[in-house]
Amino acid sequence: MIPFSKPAITGNEIKYANEAMSKGKLSGDHDFTRMCNSWIEKQTRTRKAFLTTSCTHALEMAALLTDIKDGDEVIMPSYTFVSTANAFVLRGARIVFVDIMPDTMNMDEKLIEQAITDRTRAIVPVHYAGVGCEMDTIMRIARKHNLFVIEDAAQGMMCTYKGMALGAIGDIGTFSFHETKNYTCGEGGAILVNDERFVKRAEIIREKGTNRSQFFRGEVDKYNWQDVGSSWLPSDINAAFLFAQLEMADKITDNRLKSWNLYHERLRSLEEKGCLELPKVPVECNHNGHMYFIKLNNLVERTDAINYLKEKGISAMFHYVPLHSSKAGLRFGRFCGEDKFTTKESERLLRLPLYYGLSTDDINFVCDKIKAFLKR
Ligand SMILES: *Cc1c(COP(=O)(O)O)cnc(C)c1O
Repeated sequence: MIPFSKPAITGNEIKYANEAMSKGKLSGDHDFTRMCNSWIEKQTRTRKAFLTTSCTHALEMAALLTDIKDGDEVIMPSYTFVSTANAFVLRGARIVFVDIMPDTMNMDEKLIEQAITDRTRAIVPVHYAGVGCEMDTIMRIARKHNLFVIEDAAQGMMCTYKGMALGAIGDIGTFSFHETKNYTCGEGGAILVNDERFVKRAEIIREKGTNRSQFFRGEVDKYNWQDVGSSWLPSDINAAFLFAQLEMADKITDNRLKSWNLYHERLRSLEEKGCLELPKVPVECNHNGHMYFIKLNNLVERTDAINYLKEKGISAMFHYVPLHSSKAGLRFGRFCGEDKFTTKESERLLRLPLYYGLSTDDINFVCDKIKAFLKR
């Protein structure tokens, strides 16, 4: 069986976790956490990065930092993971979904302005498959209407838009280091605080609402309860595991891009014949090979393809069920404008196996089976 995804293991994970153990420092914010934070800051040129226990938690921190309150509205695509919405619903916000574009599956920036009301507080672009949203336009709209921009860059570490790192363009950005992402420690994430105004409070909110970080740096002589907050520090063992992956991030990215490009080459003739559609990457975007997807004609054909490939030993997967049509989405949000592409395109999309170390033979095998499926 060719699995759909497999976590990358690059060699130093256990060695670094052992180092953390031999230092006897297992809780958060010790050496490896600090090394990861600095690495992310340098890589993305963000003001301040903090490891978190997940991207979900980084998004929850972002909702707290931007003071999202009962009745506020937050604009985002419906084609995303539940956490993008949940983080804001937890603060009492209503979610306003806008349609996506079929080429990138990213939120259509041309539809954002019509979704803005006097209750709108934030825009949350999701960089699907690590391909950047049209950030220049989104930032211009946000500044004009005085809105926060929180980038869900869960899939977008090591990616750029016009040379800027995804996650470091908006006011706040978030990464995921979940097992299914390119660079992982099982469960983990990071918040990128690009706006100086949020830095001090981010540190406090992440530390259970206390100024313990200032205390550890010797800036105050005791620490106490300062603000709301929760416990969003990963263990230094997780950070040690992650640091081994960050050191190898270029190698992981190159390997995934090699696989991505091979799929693209091998499937091009099918697109030219009009049998399927392949992903499009705008020229201003560099991606990280997080995902390779094809688009079939419709839901029925996609379901057949999943079953056919499974019979041949290939695990291919559909992706998000649009949030606006789900049980919670109906309760907590509304779709603004017409759903031209969100439902239709989500039903056609099929993700192919892609992970660090996927062999050329396996990619050729998958492509051959897709060809055979379309020929039946
Ligand atoms: C993976 C993912 C998340 C959630 O990340 P966790 O680290 O598992 O909480 C959020 N948004 C998007 C777009 C994702 O792909």
